[in-house]
Amino acid sequence: MTIRVTVWGENVHEQQVPLVASIYPQGLHGALAAALNADPGISATTATLQEPEHGLTDARLAATDVLTWWGHAAHGEVADAVVERVQRRVLDGMGLIVLHSGHHSKIFKRLMGTSCDLSWREAGERERLWFCNPGHAIVRGLPGTHLDIEQEEMYGEPFGIPNPDEVVLLSWFQGGEAFRSGVTYRRGAGKIFYFRPGHEAYPTYHHPLVQQLLRNAVAWARPEGGAYPAGCPHVPAEKALEPLVVRGGSVH
Ligand code: ZN
Repeated sequence: MTIRVTVWGENVHEQQVPLVASIYPQGLHGALAAALNADPGISATTATLQEPEHGLTDARLAATDVLTWWGHAAHGEVADAVVERVQRRVLDGMGLIVLHSGHHSKIFKRLMGTSCDLSWREAGERERLWFCNPGHAIVRGLPGTHLDIEQEEMYGEPFGIPNPDEVVLLSWFQGGEAFRSGVTYRRGAGKIFYFRPGHEAYPTYHHPLVQQLLRNAVAWARPEGGAYPAGCPHVPAEKALEPLVVRGGSVH
């Protein structure tokens, strides 16, 4: 079964900053969708902030197995109603891959419940991502023990996230900092992967191994079936699975 991916892009710096437009003429979302579509098992399309409802209608989300999210300059412009809609879909089982500066997006902060703050520096330094668990599906098939990206923005610890379910990638930066660069969570029935690299001033998403890793992440994050029932249904004693005599008082 093909994995249906919606690649969401803020699409602001691509329009405003010539450097970014020169690296990503189709937008970061365009480059990411093309990279994902290199896998015949993935069908990726794009949606952007500027579209009505940011391109994330109920119908669109219902037809999305995995949503990827890249934003930086306009997190505040994302409508709260859309954020709520995305959160609901994640709880119902949709996978979510949050990229780079998406750490400060409304949706990521809402799902984490913490500041998601970090330290940063834009100096084009080398980033080395260590594979903390070489057996993890997200790094499957990647050669060696780590992945080097020649130029990246630095993100440093402490990273204001809850303790992850898994730390898949740990970054070292040329300037000396370290960062939990690939972390996973479950929220409701949905799987979440945060992936740090992807500063728009550098060609990170053209890197073949980064692309491979993201295709792996999509496969990992796809829904596994099943979802929590909505609400909190009351099960009266007479409908209990086993015979039950009501004891004690009640406020209902
Ligand atoms: Zn950045």
